[in-house]
Amino acid sequence: MIANKTDTFSNLGLSSELISTLEDLGYTKPTPIQSASIPLALTGRDILGCAQTGTGKTASYALPIIDILSSGKSKARMPRGLVITPTRELAEQVSENFNIFAKNFSLSYGLLIGGIPFNEQNKILNKGVDIIISTPGRLLDHVDRGNILLNSIKILVIDEADRMLDMGFIPDVESINLMIPKIRQTLFFSATMSNEIRKIGGKFVINPKIIEVTPPSSTSKFIDQKLIFSKKSDKLKNLFSIIKNLNFESLVIFCNKKSDVKRLSLEKIFNHHKVVILHGDMLQLNRQNSLRSFKEKKSNILIASDVAGRGLDINSISHVINFDVPNNPEDYIHRIGRTGRAGNKGTSITLFSEEDKEMIKNIEKLIGKKIKIHHYNNKKSKVINYDDSIPFSKSDHVPNFLKMQSKLI
Ligand code: AMP
Repeated sequence: MIANKTDTFSNLGLSSELISTLEDLGYTKPTPIQSASIPLALTGRDILGCAQTGTGKTASYALPIIDILSSGKSKARMPRGLVITPTRELAEQVSENFNIFAKNFSLSYGLLIGGIPFNEQNKILNKGVDIIISTPGRLLDHVDRGNILLNSIKILVIDEADRMLDMGFIPDVESINLMIPKIRQTLFFSATMSNEIRKIGGKFVINPKIIEVTPPSSTSKFIDQKLIFSKKSDKLKNLFSIIKNLNFESLVIFCNKKSDVKRLSLEKIFNHHKVVILHGDMLQLNRQNSLRSFKEKKSNILIASDVAGRGLDINSISHVINFDVPNNPEDYIHRIGRTGRAGNKGTSITLFSEEDKEMIKNIEKLIGKKIKIHHYNNKKSKVINYDDSIPFSKSDHVPNFLKMQSKLI
């Protein structure tokens, strides 16, 4: 869908209070997903939206929800709006967005995520909250304990449904769905819209408007994507050498395994940097501290599992390194999408070995283009353009003629 260039927030039907907040925030023009979904959501229509993080998707549902729910008040333990997200980090980010957008409203919010004591969340529920932002597991735990009733929900948002599917959360979301009145509004968002997701979405929405704002499987043109061939046994050595020679502002390194995140962070090279880690097995408080430190630029390297692959909205990440090729091609798009945001340029470097050939092909098929292969010459700390028509060699030998094209990353 192409945005109408004359679109402004005031002709989308939002209240003057919200428009003045958006002006304060410096939002001059709605993004395509906002132009498409805000007017529909305000009329109460269900939406099946395909939009990635970074497209302004959160505001596209948060703004109409604020206007719709502003006229009433929720009773204790009976919220009227519910946003379900797959990760705690995304839930926190969404909750921050609600707080910012609704500063001129008397609506209240509750963030229900794991890793935080139940007591604290219970106190908030007791006071009465209008909108709950939650991960599925913790919400069900509160329901089981009788802390919350979902039969007053008027608007349900399911955010990053494809991630919910990957993480095995759909059955939980279906259980939650059974506790919510059938007559309500549902805004269902997914970063990709496969047939499976469409089918799952069909269970939650009634006569939805389908909105698709970006090609479902594209990578940003602002990201310079590089593949670097590295024998498996040389990966660590090559990673260190790349980091030493890389001129980065802030860097995210992705590993496939949570255990590798921790292990990698203990390597000596990181003594010269301010490094934080993030993976799903960490205590929530530690996860929050890592993210805060990275966002506030107190650390310049974040080593993470895919829990950081989606949703994180930090504009100044200059480089992403995939220490491992992700197991799922869609995760590649999400991981590298942490850089090249808000019109900034970014670079992604993916280390790959002989064993990853098939996965690279799948990634290239999904993004619809070839990624340039470079060969890393460890001795010279140079990256050499590597003609992708040349079959991968088992040795680390760089053909002489390729050395002519040496250039630093
Ligand atoms: P999201 O896709 O919801 O994660 O939003 C990505 C980023 O874009 C966030 O930092 C938002 O604050 C910002 N944003 C959302 N909508 C707009 C807009 N209309 N104009 C400028 N920035 C926006």
